Amino acid sequence: MAAQFDINELHWLLDIVQSIDVGVVVTDRDYRVEVWNSFMENHSGRSATEVAQKTLFELFPEIDQAWFTHKVETAVMLGTRAFTIWEQRPNLVRFKSYQPITGLADEMYQNVTILPLRSTNGATDHVCLIIYDVTGVAVNKRQLESANAQLRELALRDGLTGLLNRRHWEQCVEHEFARHMRYETPVSLVIFDIDHFKAVNDTYGHQTGDEVIREVARVTRSMARETDYAGRYGGEEFVVLLPDTDLNGARQFAERLRLAISKLRVEHQDRPLQFTVSLGVACLDTKMSNHAELIERADKALYRSKESGRNQTTVFQDE
Ligand code: GH3
Ligand code: MG
Ligand code: MG
Repeated sequence: MAAQFDINELHWLLDIVQSIDVGVVVTDRDYRVEVWNSFMENHSGRSATEVAQKTLFELFPEIDQAWFTHKVETAVMLGTRAFTIWEQRPNLVRFKSYQPITGLADEMYQNVTILPLRSTNGATDHVCLIIYDVTGVAVNKRQLESANAQLRELALRDGLTGLLNRRHWEQCVEHEFARHMRYETPVSLVIFDIDHFKAVNDTYGHQTGDEVIREVARVTRSMARETDYAGRYGGEEFVVLLPDTDLNGARQFAERLRLAISKLRVEHQDRPLQFTVSLGVACLDTKMSNHAELIERADKALYRSKESGRNQTTVFQDE
């Protein structure tokens, strides 16, 4: 009676193993397959009879054999389970993913449990692999990470122009200031402001004004180097911090920028609208006590440019 019950139990267990949505594989110590459940059949496209007595490495050449056998042998020796997780290795075997999500994962992400199996005589002569499909979790996590990275990036940028916003730009200046103090590399600043911008708004409307700001930003970005920090400092005031650039280099950059902006045309009711900027240039020196002094100096130079008739560049001179 008791034996009959045990056989029933065994059948139930086999049914359960067949129908669960998890891969179950049992191999002998030579990695030859003995149990292969329906999850494995469905995802590999190979029946249990087809794979019987084939080794895991014949069936899945993608398995890193040295790494995997080391993992299994250690588990067998210690008599404990071992795990592989998708964050470390996306998968053990290459199965297609059937996630209804577009294009994000075409391969199944897997967590795998390696379970040494002891027989009645006490010897560990088989190993069970339990393969979990964790594609859903993995894709969600990857999406979340990429959304977070985008949010972080957005928080640093100005909405109208895509340039660095003032807060983040000032952090960059602080950072460069510290670097300058340590290595004494030259660092220059160009600050500029659109001339008679109130008149642009008043004559052509705020939307055209916005378009002018966007165009100035676009040209600034295209002329700055990858390592420069271009930011929107205020409404129609811009800043470009130029690391490893001396005063002379910064003045040349400012002049090129001034000319390029003076050549821009923004359409307003089919009439091209022109505009200019006034610029101020200053550079860091080790006598400065903080980065605000650099901004002050450049701002003073900008004010000179405005006073002397606009559409020009002034380099800060120490009186
Ligand atoms: P100046 O040559 O002396 O610089 O004269 P200005 O008319 O440009 O004077 P000011 O710099 O004081 O004017 C800034 C104007 O820019 C005032 C404000 O209404 C406008 N402004 C600020 N931010 C924006 C914005 O995001 N969009 C638009 N369209 N206008 C803005
Ligand atoms: Mg202005
Ligand atoms: Mg202004």
